[in-house]
Amino acid sequence: MAQINGATENGLSGAAGTGVSRGPPVLPQPVRVQEILNTKIFINNEWHTSIKGKTFPTFNPATGAKICDVQEADKADIDKAVSAARAAAQRGSPWRRMDASSRGRMLTRLADLVERDRTMLATLETMDTGKPFLQSFFIDLDGSIKTLRYYAGWADKIHGKSLPVDESVLCFTKHEPVGVCGAIIPWNFPLLMFMWKLAPALSCGNTVVIKPAEQTPLTALHIGALVKEAGFPPGVVNIVPGFGPSAGAAIAGHMGIDKVAFTGSTQVGQLIKATAASSNLKRVSLELGGKNPCIVFADADLQLAVEETQKGSFYNAGQCCTAASRIFVEESVYEEFVRLSVESAKSIVIGDPLDPRTTHGPQIDRKQYDKIVALIESGKKEGARLECGGGAALDGTGLFLQPTVFTGVQDHMRIATEEIFGPVQCIFSFKSQQEAVERANSSEYGLVSAVFTRSMDRALTVSAALETGTVWVNCYNALHAQAPFGGYKMSGNGRELGEYALAEYTEVKAVTIKLSETL
Ligand code: NAP
Ligand code: MG
Repeated sequence: MAQINGATENGLSGAAGTGVSRGPPVLPQPVRVQEILNTKIFINNEWHTSIKGKTFPTFNPATGAKICDVQEADKADIDKAVSAARAAAQRGSPWRRMDASSRGRMLTRLADLVERDRTMLATLETMDTGKPFLQSFFIDLDGSIKTLRYYAGWADKIHGKSLPVDESVLCFTKHEPVGVCGAIIPWNFPLLMFMWKLAPALSCGNTVVIKPAEQTPLTALHIGALVKEAGFPPGVVNIVPGFGPSAGAAIAGHMGIDKVAFTGSTQVGQLIKATAASSNLKRVSLELGGKNPCIVFADADLQLAVEETQKGSFYNAGQCCTAASRIFVEESVYEEFVRLSVESAKSIVIGDPLDPRTTHGPQIDRKQYDKIVALIESGKKEGARLECGGGAALDGTGLFLQPTVFTGVQDHMRIATEEIFGPVQCIFSFKSQQEAVERANSSEYGLVSAVFTRSMDRALTVSAALETGTVWVNCYNALHAQAPFGGYKMSGNGRELGEYALAEYTEVKAVTIKLSETL
C-alpha cells in the first residue's frame, strides 16, 4: 500500500469517517469545476497580471484539453514579489511582531481551509496533473494538511539553548528566521511539495516567494486565496507561476532572497546551486532525483514485497523521485517474484483519472512521455527482457503508458542507471547480501531504498549499509510529516520534513553577555 504522510491509498476509514465497517464506504467524488478563479500572480495578498502582459496555458494531460491560461511571472514580477516579501520580513513588520503561537494558529487556520476545500483541490490537482482522483484526495491532500498541522505545532517550540562557556559570561542561542525564502516546485506532487516548503518556512517566521511548475500551477494559486482568507499579513506568501529559465532562474539568482528550496531534476538542481553561489551565496536545499534500490531477500513475505515494490515503481505513473526502479531479488525466489510482479502489473487499472476506479493515469506531458519511451527502447536494445507493457496504453490515446516490467537487466544499462520517471520496473537477481548492498549503493544517487526480510537482524545490518537518506523496511513510500526526507550523494542537500527541516529555515544567533561578577 503506497503511503505518503501516513495516509493509506484507499484511505477508506478516513473517507467513511467512522473506522467501523457498517456497509460499503462512501468514496469522495470529484466536483464539477465550472471556472478556474485563481489564475493570476499572487503578491501582497492581491492578484496581479504579468508586467509584460504574458500568459501561458495549462493542460489536462489525460485529455490534452487546455484548462485555462495563467498569468506568467517573469523577472520583473519576481522583483515585485521579492520586494513584497522583504517588506513583510522586516523587523517591526506585523509578521515579525506576531508572537510565535499566533503564527502557529494561522498555519492551523490555513490547514482548516485546505481541509474545507479538499475535494475541490483534489479535483483541480487531478485535472492539472492527471493523477487518479482518489490518490489526490487521500495522499496529496492528506499529506498537505498533515504537513501544515505538524509545522503549526512547531511554531512556538523553536528555541535555542543556554551554553556553559568558559568565562563568566551568559551565552545563549536564538533561532531566527532566515528572511525571504524562495521555493521552486515540480509537477509530480504540486500541492504536497508546495506545503513541504511553505509550512516549515512560515512556522519559522520567514516570508516566501514560490514558483509552481509551469505544467501544474492551479492548486498553488488556490492556496493564495486561502492564505488571504486565513489572515496572513500581505507579502508573507507570494506565488509566482512561470517558467524555470525565467522565473525560476530569477529566484535562484535574486540578491533579495536569502534561501532557495528546490525539488526537481539533478541537472536543474546543479544550475540553481551555481546561480545561488554566484549571486549572494544564498542557502540552498535540494531534493533531486533517485535510482532507488529495493533488496528482496528469500526470507521476505514475497507477496508483500511484490505489492510494495510495484507500488513503489508505478505510483503516480512512476513520476516520483522515490520511484522503486532497481529491484534486487535473491536468486532462489527471483522467478516467483517476477511471475507475481508481472501478474500484478497487468492488473493495474489505467483510465480516466477522474474515475475513482482508476489507479494509473497519464504521464505529465509529451516531453516526459517521449523520454520514457526512449528509455524503454534502450532497455530492449541493450538486451533486457521485456516481461510486460513497454508501450502506449488505451490504444495510444493521450499520454498513457502501460506499466512495464523488465527482467535480465544488467547494472550498466541505461534503464539501470538513469532516472526514468515513468512506469518502468527493472528486476535483477543477486546471490549474496554483500553483493546486493554493493550493487544497490553503486549509483550516483542516494535518495531512498527498501529492504524486504523477516529477519530484524538483517534489516538493521543492511539498512546501516545502504547509502540513502531514507531506508524503508517491509514497506515503501512511507513518508510522514514527522520524519526527515532528503538525499545522500547527487540526490540533494538538506532535509525536508520533521524537526530537521527547521534548521533549513532558521539562522542561529549566539548572544554572549559579560557578567560583572559571579557569586
Ligand atoms: P525540472 O526542469 O527540474 O523542473 C522542476 C522545477 O524547476 C520546475 O518548477 C521548473 O520550471 C524549474 N526550473 C527549470 N529550469 C530551471 C532553471 N534554469 N532555474 C530555476 N528553475 C528551473 O524538471 P522537468 O524538466 O520538469 O523534468 C525533468 C526530469 O526531472 C524528470 O524526468 C525527472 O527525472 C526529474 N524530476 C524530478 C522531480 C523530483 O521530485 N525530484 C520532479 C520533477 C522532475 P518549469 O515549470 O518551467 O519546468
Ligand atoms: Mg520543466
